Amino acid sequence: MTNSLITFAYYLLGWVLLSIVLSWVSAALYPLFSRQLNQCSPQRATNYTFFFSLLPPLAASLSILILASPELAFPLVASHCHNESCAPHTVHIEMSTLLSSSSLALGAAAILVLCISMLWQIRGNHRYERMLQQLSETDTLGYRWFDSQRPIARCIGLFKPQVYFSTGLLRVMTEEQQELVLAQNLVRAARHENLSYWLLKWASIAWPNALKHRIRRDFLQHSACACDISAFKMLADKTNKRDFVKTLESIYAKQYNPKQQPWRERLDIFQHAVDTTSQDKLGGIWTALSMTIKLTAYTTLLVIAAVYLGHPVLEVFSR
Ligand SMILES: [Zn+2]
Repeated sequence: MTNSLITFAYYLLGWVLLSIVLSWVSAALYPLFSRQLNQCSPQRATNYTFFFSLLPPLAASLSILILASPELAFPLVASHCHNESCAPHTVHIEMSTLLSSSSLALGAAAILVLCISMLWQIRGNHRYERMLQQLSETDTLGYRWFDSQRPIARCIGLFKPQVYFSTGLLRVMTEEQQELVLAQNLVRAARHENLSYWLLKWASIAWPNALKHRIRRDFLQHSACACDISAFKMLADKTNKRDFVKTLESIYAKQYNPKQQPWRERLDIFQHAVDTTSQDKLGGIWTALSMTIKLTAYTTLLVIAAVYLGHPVLEVFSR
């Protein structure tokens, strides 16, 4: 029983180490990867960015499963012997040095801190949602409203997202603006953007700071553009492209400094996506296919490298 627990703890330690190393590799390749997303639709760019951020922990999990099955791992691990035995084996754990016991304790502590922090955040979010529900009232259009002078529109909640509007926002916005903001936020809720962003944030926690902020910002930008397009489709029988863009501009002008116009790029992406012809759509399918092939090849390489290096490295830590 104790041996099984120690082995399990070592595989957890292996998962932490591999996740960190693969995170650094992915972070280093992210600028190259993000450039390729310029040719994708905002919806696909959001999905690929999300998947790219989750790759290190997912590839580390797959590598650990392979490492725990000698028949699967040994075609990938350099052949070696432990004493007289040269047959395929799981990670050889000796636990005879200070390094092995301290690395085991460190790995267990890292996992514990990670799990507690994630659960703490979920608990905090749940309390915040409950408080907002008590302070707000439901509307037949699909949002909840609460009393506040400030103009606020938010999609809140990780697992059961809901759209909240403040009375201040309902007062200052026209009916068209309200419909558009509501459509954007309902799409955000339907796409579970909060949950995806929360997972992306945790998955990129070991990335270097600059790249960590970059992938998070890129995800939110791609997702915001994708929400604009879906909101336009949702309101298609009530508005046309020209009026929709005008309403979007009027909303952004209230939110940001009109001189800088940081939303201009977002509007350009929206216009380009809506004007997409069937020939462009075919090109988009080819781009998506090539991105899927590249990501699959990259995942396979990550797993092979993680298994090849994971076995000897874990054996060094477990001596
Ligand atoms: Zn070995």
